[in-house]
Amino acid sequence: MASALKSKTDFSFLSTSINNERYSNEDRSIIKKAYDLAKKAHKGQTRLTGEPYFNHTFYTALKLADMQLPAEVIAAGILHDVLEDADISYEELEGHFGSDIAGMVNSVTKLGHVQYRGMERYVENLRKMFIAMAQDVRVIFIKFADRMHNMETLYVLPEAKRTRISKEVMEIYAPIANRLGMGEYRGLFEDYSFKYLQPKEYNWTKHLLEQRVKKFGPAMNKAMQDVERELLKHNIKSINLHGRIKYCHSLYKKLKRYNNDIKKVYDIVALRIIVSDVTECYATLGILHGMYTPLSGRIKDYIAQPKPNGYQSLHTTVFSDDGSILELQIRTTEMHEAAEYGIAAHWRYKEGYKIREKKVQWMEELTKVQRELKENDFMERLDELKLDMFQDRIFVFSPDGDVFDLPAGATPVDFAYTIHTDIGNKTTATKINHQIANLDTELKSGDMCEIMIDKNRKQPNADWLKFVKTHHARAKIKDALRKNKKSLLQSLMNRR
Ligand code: MN
Repeated sequence: MASALKSKTDFSFLSTSINNERYSNEDRSIIKKAYDLAKKAHKGQTRLTGEPYFNHTFYTALKLADMQLPAEVIAAGILHDVLEDADISYEELEGHFGSDIAGMVNSVTKLGHVQYRGMERYVENLRKMFIAMAQDVRVIFIKFADRMHNMETLYVLPEAKRTRISKEVMEIYAPIANRLGMGEYRGLFEDYSFKYLQPKEYNWTKHLLEQRVKKFGPAMNKAMQDVERELLKHNIKSINLHGRIKYCHSLYKKLKRYNNDIKKVYDIVALRIIVSDVTECYATLGILHGMYTPLSGRIKDYIAQPKPNGYQSLHTTVFSDDGSILELQIRTTEMHEAAEYGIAAHWRYKEGYKIREKKVQWMEELTKVQRELKENDFMERLDELKLDMFQDRIFVFSPDGDVFDLPAGATPVDFAYTIHTDIGNKTTATKINHQIANLDTELKSGDMCEIMIDKNRKQPNADWLKFVKTHHARAKIKDALRKNKKSLLQSLMNRR
């Protein structure tokens, strides 16, 4: 009997990616356990596309597995929506998977709580949250995979929402992916949003691209065979040879720089040659220049001088046999992985996988992200802040989804004064994550804090001075108490 057709989300499709020496049996069983729980938790739920909701979390995890990230990240990826969209509590999740995995899921969930209220404000809020989540870059990988799958199925959403999400991806996700050296994510993020933000320009560029590919396809195939043969003659066994086509948005930007003259863009299609080590990279370059005439001034050594985001390869542009122009890119496997997956590629290797080190590395990246995004006020302010200072800050949500940054240890009273002095002065009670809490409770990053006020309240409580953390709140409380004393005296004197 023929066996039943496997569903696209059968565990075997995920296990193909993790059946290698990078993962232990224990790793595989954690991922399977997460798979089973997510499948059960999302049972009966469907997405707008009509498919089961579980498909979304499955494909998110599959992307993380394809990046060969550690098992905990894949498990957290498959579980990333269970706190928000299924009937599972944080405690339950922690009980099953421990605080590391549950914590990642929690952070991804919080990142989703940023609400859209006008693009500018929204972008700022989201950037802040990304920075807050930067404590653990693994959360960003999960969020990226999650968003990538959402982009793949974005057509299903109404236009306004599509535009909003595309802007968000173009303005936040793509630049961060670029800064983290995640070339594939950056390219796909840009192309997906380009399609929805500028459909006319997108279609125009895509058409150009398809024409070029059609035209150069045969020359490319011939070059691929010729190069492979020639390298073998010199005892270089290329690990992989493939054609790469420029991303649409990247081509569009380049065309703008060259007055839309496509003849000036030489790297629309490129031949990529992956060899074993750096010595072979240079040897390959020499061999290729013996085969084809290089265009002068177009040899780029990004191995000796990597791009600012760490990108490494040798690039050269040559005249191929039929006189057409061909770009060649030569790199090692490690360089290739780093170019496609960036910082995520470093996470594949367990030996370097110490949280502390990764944190330092990530913080360095972060300063670069800041520089890149500094057209934004918040980022400029951050630039002035020292990073170690920044690490002691927390990010707290208002019930409206706005994000406020506060020093670590800040309380709801600090939060109230950050919103508005009047709110601070009239505070009577607070809810943290919908639960009534004491006014001196220490807030944590990602908490949602609600302040209840009494309009008739005359002055703040002098006891608050004992626990507030911000200078701002302290000054405003003293201010209000002083004024109140003054007016009390005034009214006593007036009475006489
Ligand atoms: Mn999701």
